[in-house]
Amino acid sequence: MDCPICENAMITLELEEVEIDYCTDCGGIWLDAGELETLLGEPEKAGGLLSSFKADLKSAENPRKCPICDKKMQKIVVGQSGPALLIDKCPRGDGLWFDKGELQDIFDRARLDKDNKIRELLADMFGHKKGHGSNKSNSG
Ligand SMILES: [Zn+2]
Ligand SMILES: [Zn+2]
Repeated sequence: MDCPICENAMITLELEEVEIDYCTDCGGIWLDAGELETLLGEPEKAGGLLSSFKADLKSAENPRKCPICDKKMQKIVVGQSGPALLIDKCPRGDGLWFDKGELQDIFDRARLDKDNKIRELLADMFGHKKGHGSNKSNSG
């Protein structure tokens, strides 16, 4: 599958037994339909989050093309409060596209990830960890 932004081939990663497609270039993530629900884990809360999705018809962001069917994806606003988080959704329902950091943002907003498990995994995978050391070490 190719990245809708860079058009480079994405790599497949496994996160909590869900296969996600990741672009090493721009840091974007593609989730097939249903995979976000699986990652969110709790169907009831996930349903609440998913039902907050609202199409943003006047978004200034450029539309992206679905990596599966090549149709223009819809901009979707997530959540009711705070600065708008915009993700892209295939109009046929193939899946969802998250720009770099947006997937973590979803978990932040949804407060579903109580142990920070998913966020830790994402940080590990994508190298967002803060305070990652140089070769200097204090211990010894
Ligand atoms: Zn990319
Ligand atoms: Zn599609």
